[in-house]
Amino acid sequence: VADRLKDKTLYRTASFIDGAWVQGEGAKPILNPANNEMIAEIGDVGADGARSAIAAAATAFETWKRISPFERSKLLMRWHQLILENAADLAVLITLEMGKTQREAMGEVVYGAAFIEWSAEEAKRIHGETMQPPFPNSRGWTIHQPVGVVACITPWNFPNAMITRKCAPALAAGCTMVIKPAPETPLSALALAELARRAGIPDGVFNVICGDAQVLGPVMTGAPEVKMIGFTGSTAVGKLLMRQAADGVKRVALELGGNAPFIVMDDADIEAAADGVIASKFRVSGQTCVSANRIIVQSGIADRFVAALEARVSKLKPGDGFDGTSDLGPLIHHEAVARVDALVRNARESGARIVTGGKPLVDELGGAFYAPTLIEGGNPTMDLACFEIFGPVASIYRLDTEDEILRLANDTPYGLAAYVYTRDVNRVYRITEGLDYGMIGVNAPMVGSASTPFGGMKESGIGREGGKWGVEEFSELKYVLLGGV
Ligand code: ADP
Repeated sequence: VADRLKDKTLYRTASFIDGAWVQGEGAKPILNPANNEMIAEIGDVGADGARSAIAAAATAFETWKRISPFERSKLLMRWHQLILENAADLAVLITLEMGKTQREAMGEVVYGAAFIEWSAEEAKRIHGETMQPPFPNSRGWTIHQPVGVVACITPWNFPNAMITRKCAPALAAGCTMVIKPAPETPLSALALAELARRAGIPDGVFNVICGDAQVLGPVMTGAPEVKMIGFTGSTAVGKLLMRQAADGVKRVALELGGNAPFIVMDDADIEAAADGVIASKFRVSGQTCVSANRIIVQSGIADRFVAALEARVSKLKPGDGFDGTSDLGPLIHHEAVARVDALVRNARESGARIVTGGKPLVDELGGAFYAPTLIEGGNPTMDLACFEIFGPVASIYRLDTEDEILRLANDTPYGLAAYVYTRDVNRVYRITEGLDYGMIGVNAPMVGSASTPFGGMKESGIGREGGKWGVEEFSELKYVLLGGV
């Protein structure tokens, strides 16, 4: 694997604790989902490793929180610069460990780096306010201070950006970090640690631990030194971590699952909406938490919309992410292929029509591939509509009125991202105000950026990443009252 990198020393397979590489026990194979080849073996640092990383982060916090925010900003800027200089290698690691295409991987590196740049700029602008208390001869003011040691648990679908999106604002605010990457994708996390080290981020400030989630997780949520848990992943694991964090009343920031409606109204630009579904649904083979999950189309244009979408979906080419002609890569592993296929089979059994695709391509392409799929005529109560698909399967539901559409769109425990295509400005207000979602794209299929708030309502999470809101999550607001002035 190292031979595929311009800088071979970015291929790191040991955990990073207090500025040192720690091998851990055993050797868990990491597989490339496009061809099942082993790309690394990773040791497990166990509960002791997690404890030593937390202790290192707690010690480092005492100095990191005191250095000037201008200095923290400079270190983050250097890290940002090194990430961009090594973007091609980081993108290779992403494609190797989780399969997305090189174009998508490069996009992820640039997107992830933007959070570091934004947070570095923001570090200098964290400041409080003064206010009038109701007492005579008194003054009041607030200060923002870092929360403390933050433990982060991240997923495999954005193995680079889900780390920078949490760590950059946390480090900017003055927190120190212990990160547990997804077991499928340790290499991106460890390469980021190597670049953080080169940038001069002090030992103990940024730690990455690899190992069994069931063992490391409870140590992270249970340690009294850890003041906050940052998590991106499934709602089930998010709930578990929130329960564990409750004992220590630790702050939580949770980015959980979604069930995004993608609404196309009669007055929409059909071609733009069909392009939007391709971008929202088929990016990363549908494996993002903001991927369109239910495409809800107003009846008047449904036939034309299905035709426009079929023309596009049937042209999508799945293949190895390193092949420049591939439009989408494999799913993360073979269990994911089986899970997506079960959803499609259930849809077919409940009467839906497979317009195109609808089958695994494991034998044809030699990896965890699933055919880009378009389904219509399904029932909005079938599994495909109720669960997060996390695969390249678009399913269309037809409804007549705006009220019915809003009701169906909100009929889910999730509330992360929603999309609506319409050219009627009054409708834009009515629908965006009526949707119970944390982020809404109007005539826009992608909502995430470093400068804007990312996060969900309902069972999709707590807190926001990005922009000034992302930094606020990692700060405590302290009020000071001065009497006897
Ligand atoms: P997915 O099913 O997409 O892998 P998960 O929510 O299971 O989503 O995984 C997201 C992250 O949560 C990964 O880093 C995974 O290792 C971690 N994780 C899974 N189970 C636990 C757990 N019981 N405690 C702590 N972390 C966990």
